[in-house]
Amino acid sequence: MAISRRKAIGLVAGAGVVLGTGAWLNHELNPRTPLPYELPPGGALPVTSECDDDPTPTVTEGPFYTPNTPQRTVLRERDTAGMPLVIEGRVLTPDCRPLAGAVLDFWSCDGNGIYDNEGFRLRGHQFTDRTGAFRVETVKPRDYEQYGIHRTPHVHVKVQGRGTRMLTTQLFFPNEPLNQRDWFVEESLIMNVTKGSGALMARFDFVIL
Ligand code: FE
Repeated sequence: MAISRRKAIGLVAGAGVVLGTGAWLNHELNPRTPLPYELPPGGALPVTSECDDDPTPTVTEGPFYTPNTPQRTVLRERDTAGMPLVIEGRVLTPDCRPLAGAVLDFWSCDGNGIYDNEGFRLRGHQFTDRTGAFRVETVKPRDYEQYGIHRTPHVHVKVQGRGTRMLTTQLFFPNEPLNQRDWFVEESLIMNVTKGSGALMARFDFVIL
C-alpha cells in the first residue's frame, strides 16, 4: 500500500534520531532554499485544454542542492554515465494557464548514483518559453543509498513562476521496483516515460500555486 508523504517524513525524522543525521534532516525537511535567479518577462497565458488542476506535490529538497547553477537545457555531457533522458512538459497554474518565463532548476545523480557536489554536472536552470514549455536533456539517474535510506531513481527540481510560490519536488520513473519502498514516491510524480531512439522520453506538467 502506498504510504502518504506526510507519514513518510515522520518516518524519516524518526530514522534520523536513530542514525544521528539530525543536521541533514533539518535541511531535508526544509525545502525552501530560495531560487537566486531573476525571472525574465512572462506570466500566465490563456487557459489551455488538457490540464490537471491538482497542484504538483512537494517533496523534500534533500541534501544535494547547489544554488546558482548554469543556465542551460542540456545537462548531459559526452562522458556522463547513464542512459540519455529527455524530460519535456509545461509549467501551469491551477486554473490551467501555462506560465511563460518560469524557472526550473534541475539536479540529479548520474547513471552510477553519483552527485557532483563540487561542480555543476547534471545541474542547470532554464526558463519556460512563450508557451510555458520546457525541455531538459539529462541522463536517467540510478538508485543510491544515503544515510541508510535507499532511494529509487529520481530527478530533483525547483520550479517558480512570476508571483508563484516556489515548488521543490522530485520526479520518478514508472515500473521501478524500488518505488514501492521509497517513502518519497507519489503516484502523481511518476513521469510518463517512453523509449525513444537512443534516449528515454519523459513528459511531466507542473502545476504550481
Ligand atoms: Fe536525490
